[in-house]
Amino acid sequence: MSEFPAQAPVVIVGAGCIGAAIAYHLGRRGVKGVVVLEKEPFAGAGSTSKAAGGIRAQFSAPINVQISMLSVDHFRRFAGEMGTDPVFFPVGYLFLLSDPGRWAAFQQQVEMQRGLGLEVRTLSPAEAQALVPELNVEDVLGATFCPTDGLGNPHEVTQAYVTHARRLGAVFRFSCPAGGFVMEGSRVTGVRTLEGTVSAPVVVNAAGPHAAEVAAWAGVNLPVQPIRRHCFTTEPLPFGRADLPMIVDMKSGVYMHRESGGLLLGLANPEEPPGFDTSVNWDLLERVVEPAIHRVPALESARISNAWSGLYETTPDHTAVIGPPAAVRGLMLANGFSGHGFMHAPGVGQLVSEWIVDGRPSLDLSPLRLERFAERAAMAEANVI
Ligand SMILES: Cc1cc2nc3c(=O)[nH]c(=O)nc-3n(C[C@H](O)[C@H](O)[C@H](O)COP(=O)(O)OP(=O)(O)OC[C@H]3O[C@@H](n4cnc5c(N)ncnc54)[C@H](O)[C@@H]3O)c2cc1C
Repeated sequence: MSEFPAQAPVVIVGAGCIGAAIAYHLGRRGVKGVVVLEKEPFAGAGSTSKAAGGIRAQFSAPINVQISMLSVDHFRRFAGEMGTDPVFFPVGYLFLLSDPGRWAAFQQQVEMQRGLGLEVRTLSPAEAQALVPELNVEDVLGATFCPTDGLGNPHEVTQAYVTHARRLGAVFRFSCPAGGFVMEGSRVTGVRTLEGTVSAPVVVNAAGPHAAEVAAWAGVNLPVQPIRRHCFTTEPLPFGRADLPMIVDMKSGVYMHRESGGLLLGLANPEEPPGFDTSVNWDLLERVVEPAIHRVPALESARISNAWSGLYETTPDHTAVIGPPAAVRGLMLANGFSGHGFMHAPGVGQLVSEWIVDGRPSLDLSPLRLERFAERAAMAEANVI
């Protein structure tokens, strides 16, 4: 193995989709010798490997819509630029609303989303059913549909970022946990590992569910908690067609999209305590399957083929923290994506690299500053699935 680098222009802690995207975009902007430290033996072994692959811009917070739209632009060009198989499938996201208050809020959001340039429309229950004939819409008041939302392949995207970041001069050290920061006063000047210490003027925290622990090395209180989330998949189904949109039933919270000819089903457990347990809780299966069958009765005969769980890196307002913390220099946060880190990775890679190289990102990321929590200026993202 090559010698441990003593110095780097930027060190990134974590090689998930976020750390890999930042490394790639720094390389594209001419920063050579970026060091990425990853405690696992390969990239994307953390939450990235558990992601359902959903990509959408239908958020309630404008900043989340904007980062998604930027990311979708990257996803569209991805295969051509990176030389991969297609990684993005714009099948659309169909949100189904049954509660009058929620439906009114979604219609208002559509106005905001359209104002930002998003192609999104409201549908009647009959129009939603025309899109997906298998749906039961008897209790649905309306729906929203965005055809540029869709599905992506987190593994392929992350591996491509690693390959191209390396080509552009980045160094990935796998099985190499970061163990602490070197501090000079309130400035982070390097990262300690068992293989040695690497000095750098900028260190990026891209440690996913472990982000709070990494930030604490600099005395930064980062409110990111690991929360377990599950996915269940079915065996192939007659309607598991390639262009089936992602369906999100806001009444129950259940979401489903095609997966290997069948469906992937997911549902948040509101009682899930924070923690690093990623064992599968099979008791949840019934709670997922029941509302899924209500919404798509043909699922009655479906057989479950697989299940896994992973960790959301959740903030109190379900929105990321991006940027340098005010109290510490030399540290950049890219954390707390709260279930939408994969879909935001390309945009975050671009924006964080701009911030490091140009001193500011091309999109105003001030709504995502860490200090919003202390200022009580947090704007909770309502469309969490
Ligand atoms: C079940 C499930 C479904 C999901 N579905 C979607 C979806 O449909 N769409 C979507 O956009 N998002 C989804 N997500 C969320 C998405 O997976 C995450 O937001 C995203 O992967 C976060 O990426 P990351 O790079 O920040 O974190 P990670 O992928 O966890 O990467 C962080 C890396 O840091 C490493 N690390 C941590 N501490 C250290 C250390 N001290 N030293 C060195 N390395 C360290 C870890 O090993 C890890 O590889 C889902 C998540 C789950 C669990």
